[in-house]
Amino acid sequence: MHIERMLGKGEWDMMDSFEQSALCEPSRAHQKNSKKHIILSQVLALATAFAFSLNPAYAEDDALLHKIDQIQELSDRNNEEGIRQLLELKKNMPANASARARLDLISVLGGLYFDAGKVKEGSELQEEFKRLAQQLNDKDALTFLSIVAAFDVYEKSGYDSAYAYLDSLAPTIEKASPSLKFRYASIKSQFYSSQNKSDLALKQYLYMLDLIEKLPRRQLQARMITWERISGLYLGLKDPKKALEATTEALAVSSATAVPKSFVEILIVRGAALSQLKRNIEALKEYETALRIAKEESLPFAQAAALFNLADQHLILKDYKRAEQCARESMAVYEKLEDKFNLMGAQVNLGLALGYQGKVKQGADLVIESIDYFKKENSKGALESINGELAAMYEAAGMYKEALALMHEKQNLSEEVYQAEVAKETAKLREGFDTEQREKQIELLAKNNALKDADIRNHRLQQMVTLLASVIAVLAGCFIYMLYRRSKKLNLQLQEVNSQLEFHAVRDPLTGLHNRRSFIALMSTRVARVETERREGPYGNPDCMILLDIDHFKHINDTWGHAVGDIVLKEVASRLRNVVRDEDMLMRWGGEEFLIFSPKSNPEQITSLVERVLRTIGGEAFMNGEQAIPVTVTAGFISVPFSDVPEDVCDWERALQIADMALYLGKTHGRNRAYGLARLLVPHEDAIPTLTHDLAAAIKQNMVEVIEVLGPQQAST
Ligand code: GH3
Ligand code: MG
Ligand code: MG
Repeated sequence: MHIERMLGKGEWDMMDSFEQSALCEPSRAHQKNSKKHIILSQVLALATAFAFSLNPAYAEDDALLHKIDQIQELSDRNNEEGIRQLLELKKNMPANASARARLDLISVLGGLYFDAGKVKEGSELQEEFKRLAQQLNDKDALTFLSIVAAFDVYEKSGYDSAYAYLDSLAPTIEKASPSLKFRYASIKSQFYSSQNKSDLALKQYLYMLDLIEKLPRRQLQARMITWERISGLYLGLKDPKKALEATTEALAVSSATAVPKSFVEILIVRGAALSQLKRNIEALKEYETALRIAKEESLPFAQAAALFNLADQHLILKDYKRAEQCARESMAVYEKLEDKFNLMGAQVNLGLALGYQGKVKQGADLVIESIDYFKKENSKGALESINGELAAMYEAAGMYKEALALMHEKQNLSEEVYQAEVAKETAKLREGFDTEQREKQIELLAKNNALKDADIRNHRLQQMVTLLASVIAVLAGCFIYMLYRRSKKLNLQLQEVNSQLEFHAVRDPLTGLHNRRSFIALMSTRVARVETERREGPYGNPDCMILLDIDHFKHINDTWGHAVGDIVLKEVASRLRNVVRDEDMLMRWGGEEFLIFSPKSNPEQITSLVERVLRTIGGEAFMNGEQAIPVTVTAGFISVPFSDVPEDVCDWERALQIADMALYLGKTHGRNRAYGLARLLVPHEDAIPTLTHDLAAAIKQNMVEVIEVLGPQQAST
């Protein structure tokens, strides 16, 4: 038994104060119907959110907020130290501290307590937060609380009422800040996800990805966590390939040192995806890394979850000694965290590990104790998988009768789970899954038959078995057809959402421009495309590439700060967008480098485009409030094919390398200018070798004609 995403309390340990509530959906893996779980989410959702939602680009005059912000950043790396500093700050809160700062501090601290496994302290702070919000009549905080109240509605009257309630909030949310919008979408996605309405949940996630760019703070964390949830959703849909891709997206924007909490959670989901893909050794590695970081960073819930999954993974790899050890360790941590639900799950792993080591009775007793617990909790999802695992253990021990009985129960359960409303949307998965289970049953029946068991020799029973087999066959046929029709519909809905997700993967998050990856993808089909065009029509104008680099950008960062640097990058992107043609492709090529790909352009068009580019950036200073920031760029440009040289001699990458040298030449000649390569003056066999290594030498030897375009005059020069 394993955890696909953090369960129970572990749900929030990975997230920082804001994201916690966003992520407390019941796990698809084990808690399909657990009410308890949503209550828990409610508590958590109250926990916080605030460091994030209530604190939009804080006013510069509030040093306190800034301080809290800094401590929160620190706590991403060192939870204990974060708690210590916040407690101290809370004790010495100045009398004139703003409402926002007070709310902020409480919410961040509450979140950190949960991370540290201190549930009681965390819950107390939630209550304090609620009281304070009412007392201060803080509009954002109250809006937030009204969103969270959806959980109360759900508790009292179920899903439909909760959805209706959320809809009634829509007009308020429409006017609210992006942070509150994000939270609203997040809570909606939790409901959808807990009902397995995957397509609707995905749509919310997608919307959240859109909102992230507008969040005033902690975008990185929000991005990591949204991708992590998308990944979890795919895991629930038994689509481990997509789940793995989503974790790759999450890891691309993260690092273990910056946000270990989220990082570890992603590693765990990734491990689960790899495990589903039967890439068992890789899965093991991810869990081990997760465990190491969780220990180093004192993240007990993550530590327990990593151990839990390690135990499961060792079971899969038939290393029962290690499985036993990990199971025991995870149980010890859950025990300390008073997390009964996961403790009982971990006990299943221990029971199985013992059973496979020959202690069948002792192992089975432990597993059965867990089964009884999950029955009481009405957690059918968990039961279904445990029954299957125990059956396999019995089978390995040669106890076919016991195994068969369990498989029957599992079949019943899985039908029950399936028929329950929550499972409607997972039709697609069940198709393959049920076939597998039926095969297993038939196989067990056969083995059971072979046993010289008195019951089985009984003629009547024999007949029943045959009858059962034929009934199963007929039912299976009808069932599969029904599933096929349902899964087709779901597939269509998912397809649309997926294509939108792909859109996000090829965009640069800061500027919204295409990124390097999308250009490389375009170029990978270039040869085929160019060939076709050549065959189909007269040989037209070549494509052109203009590479730009902002001048003295480091100086801008150093003088005005990184945040202003980011604003400049966005403004550069937006100005460039206005000067390129519709058919041009504009990309963020690297940190402060941009690339314009201008298909089928003649030299005059290109020169005028380059002039426009230099003018739009250098012509008018960028404004940061009252202050003017002069910005210029230097560019290098070239066409591909270049000067009729065949592309197998000078392909786009080589041409871009030459453009980069031209750019560099511009830097050394005073910046705010562009150099372009017009054409070769000697045969390419002679020119290309020199050109690709030393542009200055090639110019000196008259091998190439170069165009210079100057930028607008600068006030200071
Ligand atoms: P030059 O005119 O020679 O290009 O000078 P430069 O200072 O622009 O040179 P360099 O390429 O060394 O500096 C680029 C700087 O851009 C370094 C890096 O810190 C900064 N940078 C890269 N990506 C980002 C980003 O996303 N945001 C911000 N604010 N700065 C970035
Ligand atoms: Mg640079
Ligand atoms: Mg630069």
